[in-house]
Amino acid sequence: MTIRSIIMKKIDRGEADETVIFLSRERGWLTGIAKNSRKSRVRFGGHLEPFCVVDLAVRLRKKDNLVWIDESHMSKGFLKIRGKMESLARVSYFFELVSVFLPESSPDPDVFDFLENFLETLDASNPGSIELLVSEIHLLGLLGFQPSFNRCPFCGQGFASNPDVFFSPLLGGAVHKSCVEYKPALDKTMSPATLAALRHGLNADSRLVERIKLSRSAEKEIRDSLSAFVRCLRGEEIKSLRFMEKAGYF
Ligand SMILES: [Zn+2]
Repeated sequence: MTIRSIIMKKIDRGEADETVIFLSRERGWLTGIAKNSRKSRVRFGGHLEPFCVVDLAVRLRKKDNLVWIDESHMSKGFLKIRGKMESLARVSYFFELVSVFLPESSPDPDVFDFLENFLETLDASNPGSIELLVSEIHLLGLLGFQPSFNRCPFCGQGFASNPDVFFSPLLGGAVHKSCVEYKPALDKTMSPATLAALRHGLNADSRLVERIKLSRSAEKEIRDSLSAFVRCLRGEEIKSLRFMEKAGYF
């Protein structure tokens, strides 16, 4: 069978083969073995590179959960992303979120389409910070972990009349300061202006998000909140996030 897939990574296996980890649209995460892929340009043509969108001809192996990859056909190679370390790091981060939060054997075509779309956007344009942050929140939503900026979990009220909040990674959203007695150490500052800009971005038509202006401090507040949230969900470090922070991309 042929399955549409995005390559996540590949590892040399012996002299000539490669082990390939990929996300398929219809079957979710799979690990495949590409026999002789390091020698056969005809069958694989260098398509098994990270973040290529490919159609893979695969066969299930009987003895384990692996598949044989017999052939690959490149659909999209995203050369511009490949040439830019920051773009590669951003894509790696989104893929790490999906690898951590989308279980094996749980195919999700919406998540696949989101990632393919994100790769196309990043290859064709240079999205601004608000677009990237809104994309990240949409991805977390697709994975079942949508942080909430609509309603305080304590009183159930919205934030229009009382935007004096902080972001709680443990509760996964904005919380009224007046609804809690003290601010726990984990929680992140989120000014009323930041909350308003973010809510505007989340509710806007995707083509209009880029028009929203985000100050440097608002960007930092949202970034810090999301980073703390995904780490809290994960319960441990997220390598690509740490890399982006060290490299100064966040
Ligand atoms: Zn409240």
